[in-house]
Amino acid sequence: MTAYDSLMAFQRETEALGQIAGRLGWDQETMMPRGAAHQRGEEMAALQSVLHARRTDARIGDWLTTIDRAALDPVATAQLREITRSFQRNTKVPTKLAAEIARVTSKSQGEWAEARSNEDFKAFVPTLERVVALRQEEGQALADGGDPYDALLQDYEPGTTAAELDEMFGALRPRLTALRSAIFEKPAPKAVDGAFDEAAQLALSQRLALDFGYDMNTGRIDKAVHPFSSGSGQDVRITTRTNIADPFNCFYSTIHEVGHAAYEQGVSGAYALTPIGQGASMGVHESQSRIYENQLGRSRAFTGYLFGKMRDAFGDFGIDDEDSFYAAVNRIHAGYIRTEADEVQYNLHVLLRFDLERQLIAGDLQVADLEDAWNSRFEADFGYAVDKPSNGCLQDVHWSVGLFGYFATYTLGNVYAGCLYESLRDAVPSLDADLAQGNTSNATAWLRDNLQQHGGLRTPRDTIAHATGTSPSEGPLLAYLDAKFGALYQL
Ligand code: ZN
Repeated sequence: MTAYDSLMAFQRETEALGQIAGRLGWDQETMMPRGAAHQRGEEMAALQSVLHARRTDARIGDWLTTIDRAALDPVATAQLREITRSFQRNTKVPTKLAAEIARVTSKSQGEWAEARSNEDFKAFVPTLERVVALRQEEGQALADGGDPYDALLQDYEPGTTAAELDEMFGALRPRLTALRSAIFEKPAPKAVDGAFDEAAQLALSQRLALDFGYDMNTGRIDKAVHPFSSGSGQDVRITTRTNIADPFNCFYSTIHEVGHAAYEQGVSGAYALTPIGQGASMGVHESQSRIYENQLGRSRAFTGYLFGKMRDAFGDFGIDDEDSFYAAVNRIHAGYIRTEADEVQYNLHVLLRFDLERQLIAGDLQVADLEDAWNSRFEADFGYAVDKPSNGCLQDVHWSVGLFGYFATYTLGNVYAGCLYESLRDAVPSLDADLAQGNTSNATAWLRDNLQQHGGLRTPRDTIAHATGTSPSEGPLLAYLDAKFGALYQL
């Protein structure tokens, strides 16, 4: 066996163990008996310590120095790029620091949940200060004298920098705030009204998952409090939820997660259980969920199809025609919560978090001042004041568990989705006619052929550039939003 073969055989087992850890996580959110929580914690910790030992195994370093890189094909080169990144990431952080981060963040989530339910940000300040300090230390260890926040970003979107994102996000913010202000001066369209049977919602959401090409032979759908997708290759599961008054929550959560799952199911089988056998990054992943959910799922054409299906399932729900239904699906509404935000306001939520977390990691903003900073930024961008911490800086779990650098990938995903949609429209002239019949097969085939099948073969930016033929920018997303909501609200 060559050094490359030995390394890949070792890596394959690590990837398989990683998939098992993911499936335990899925089980915890869906099936696990409540009384099993403590034991599950020990099981996960044991598996994580095996994984950490494998990811920092000194033999990886030896193999990486022995391999003759000049002789490798593009697939092997990409595998080494990913293995090298993971090995350096895991060996640069001192074991003691990694253990302390794991210890503190396993407790801090519970403390965040308690502070949130008590509407008491001050009670959470000491814990969050500790989490921020640990991530600052970790960022410094990873950065080798470079920028600690940039170093943290690499976990979610390899190759990107805060400066690059700042330029892109800086261009989005004034355009999005202007669009939201213009919309709020117009009358709000009618919303759907009534009680929507939850079993019927689940049945229709399964129909939609199949319409979008989700393969139930290598997948399954269960209920969870927060929808997610989990797994790669031949076992890619999704979850959804229901709300009796809001069927769109169920339908569009499902389509969103199908986008994530279709990406994993679409990766070439030749890459199974290897580092490139999964999505290229969080941002590219989110581009798939978003284009399925928004550009395709919330289009005029597809909502026409959905309207018919909803009338069949629920009878009269206060909306009489396809155009009014399209307006109801795409209704822009005031609100505080990122995960409930519409297409126009969603990215403003993310931009707020991106700016504040950079300041926290840089030490330019103290945790004790976070709530005030959040509230004043929110009022500036949204036009009304935050009423309580659970609607403000305590709404998301991310910071409590030390996820700094993650939020940006949500907006990057929307930006990438804008770029992909522009190319997709050119490539599939029958798109609207297809979607009006509930037929996504030409659209999803284009995404699979041009993006999904390649998994992590290319870096995130190159993955988008390969699919679209041009390097990603915010322009297409803004043009799409202006055109769609300009027409809907007669701006
Ligand atoms: Zn997502």
